[in-house]
Amino acid sequence: MGERKASKNGGRLLGRRSLLMGGAAAAGLVVLAREDLVRLYWQAPGAQKPRTEGDVDFTKASWVAASPANYRAADRPDDYSIDMVVIHITQGSFDSAVQVFQNPAHRAAAHYIVRRDGHITQMIRELDVAYHAGNRDYNERSIGIEHEGVVEDPSAFTDEMYAASAQLTARICARYDIPVDRQHIIGHVEVPGSDHTCPGPHFDWDRYLRLVREARTTEA
Ligand SMILES: [Zn+2]
Repeated sequence: MGERKASKNGGRLLGRRSLLMGGAAAAGLVVLAREDLVRLYWQAPGAQKPRTEGDVDFTKASWVAASPANYRAADRPDDYSIDMVVIHITQGSFDSAVQVFQNPAHRAAAHYIVRRDGHITQMIRELDVAYHAGNRDYNERSIGIEHEGVVEDPSAFTDEMYAASAQLTARICARYDIPVDRQHIIGHVEVPGSDHTCPGPHFDWDRYLRLVREARTTEA
């Protein structure tokens, strides 16, 4: 509600955009100008990139839509740049996490959930700001990845889960040019103001970062 402070300027900007496009066409500069104009357009407040139901940002993910109450539509990385991945643990089963993210009363959800067997479901587009970190600034600049399991259980983190999640994070880091280090790949517990403990002491960060780096170089 009322998140887009600048939306009252939208009409004026779009008006200017039409003028620009008309001018460019008249001057025969359409091809030259199109890319710049597209960029300008997505930066205009209130503009939204087209979305197709079922589209995923990670090709190995399957799509299940989260409730729109659990995220805010945005046009990242044009309106907010993305420079972080936040790691979470579901503290319950994969299925129950999918259910709560579909529930508008939950008021929170992450972009992805990685199941114990390595299956990945995407529930919110990376374009959009998911309410996962409990901190507005961190939500706007990050992608949130949930992992099935409980913080207290060392057996929660399977080889399949580490491998699948690392591939996903490697793709995200490549897409937005995010450095693979602990300043940019963080746990929910490290978000300022967080009262969550995930991913907890049993999550092997050294192993995870090594797998992300390996996945980055094999896909490069
Ligand atoms: Zn969390």
